[in-house]
Amino acid sequence: MKRVRVTPEQIDHYNKPGPRYTSYPTVPIWSHDFGEADYREALTSVAASPDDTLSLYVHLPFCAERCAYCGCNATVTRHEHVIDTYLDHVERELEIVAPLLGQRRRVVQMHWGGGTPNFINEAQSRRLMAMLDAAFDIDRDEELSLEMDPRIGTREQAIFYRELGFNRVSLGVQDIDSRVQVAIGRIQPFENTAALFNACREVGFSSVNIDLVYGLPYQSGEVFGDTLEAVINLRPDRIACFSYAHLPNSRSNQKHVDATGLPTPYAKFGLFQQSVETFTDAGYDWIGLDHFALSSDEMSQAVRERRLRRNFMGYTLLPASHMVSLGVSSIGDLGGCFIQNDVGLGRYQKSLAAGKLPVVRGMRLTPDDHNRRAAIMHLMCNLELPKHMMKDEGMLDSYERVAAHAIDGLVGVEAERLFVTDLGRYFIRNLCMELDAHLSQTAGRPIFSKTV
Ligand code: SF4
Repeated sequence: MKRVRVTPEQIDHYNKPGPRYTSYPTVPIWSHDFGEADYREALTSVAASPDDTLSLYVHLPFCAERCAYCGCNATVTRHEHVIDTYLDHVERELEIVAPLLGQRRRVVQMHWGGGTPNFINEAQSRRLMAMLDAAFDIDRDEELSLEMDPRIGTREQAIFYRELGFNRVSLGVQDIDSRVQVAIGRIQPFENTAALFNACREVGFSSVNIDLVYGLPYQSGEVFGDTLEAVINLRPDRIACFSYAHLPNSRSNQKHVDATGLPTPYAKFGLFQQSVETFTDAGYDWIGLDHFALSSDEMSQAVRERRLRRNFMGYTLLPASHMVSLGVSSIGDLGGCFIQNDVGLGRYQKSLAAGKLPVVRGMRLTPDDHNRRAAIMHLMCNLELPKHMMKDEGMLDSYERVAAHAIDGLVGVEAERLFVTDLGRYFIRNLCMELDAHLSQTAGRPIFSKTV
């Protein structure tokens, strides 16, 4: 990909708070009036389409300790019985959700996220998989993935998860530099990461992936360059390079991050641009906002054929019709609705103990939401905006607003479509914001991170 020069003025201009568009409409728009009855209705509506396939997400929030930089819904525990109790409640949730979906459903994509999924023990993992297998027809030939923390991951675990049926794994790395690791409260010798990575390869995971974070304290170009080089030497199939959002007022654990070493917005942008250039030079394609895949990977192929999709689990080639999510804070997408479970572990369990689904907010999408969602997802994934996706005058107005960014070089204009330029890729969230009919309702709220 062509090297792009981005000026500090351009960064200042586009560096405003905005959604990452893992969904549209975005979570802050969803209503707290959307409750259990709405969720049950959505589940029941799916029962009318028995051939629809499912994605399945399970949130396992437990960790051995809290990393200072963490932005996930995570709970620290040393007690196995706490996890057993949680699984009791996930089982209750499953017992309500699965029957409402009608007949036994085929699952074509499953992900265990966290927290630290490999923190729960083998018996607990077996129990969880057995309950999911009892409720759904989980296709072992499709994508079954989980996140593993290399600090506690072992070769034996890798063998165990393969036996359970997982075929994809993501290892959290963030940065290999010891000073950065001290600043973010996550000490992780690279030898552990490399050993687990190689073990995952050897035991037959078909896709072994790595997660990085840029914008951390003390990450200079030189420091991050070492991390990028070490990761490339491992040759993961896919790499996610997430932006660190420092929000200590809403994430109290981040008060323990050594913020004195945080990069300026311009330096942070430079770190991301460095990762784009380093990975593309090394044979990876830049996917969507912040992912990279080997050019031979099927995800790269999907981008070339303009059929990449995105859901709450990330980029995907397997667009299941619905996404069922289980566990505290998890987010579902089914029957034309978004649904979020309670983010408080105690409240999540209390609702289920009372026989209630722990939904705390959600949204039923309007036809306009569906149309704009399709356009935003297509723009984010496939880097173009076909005019035929604009279904009415309002959307055509939005299309023209995106087209106006041709002046600053973010898009190119053709007769029947707009395409995102190499420069525009860095500011693609700003382009999506032009298509967002709800954005004014979230203006000024501190829930979104800035572009840089
Ligand atoms: S970063 Fe990962 S391991 Fe650390 S506290 Fe958060 S979820 Fe747990």
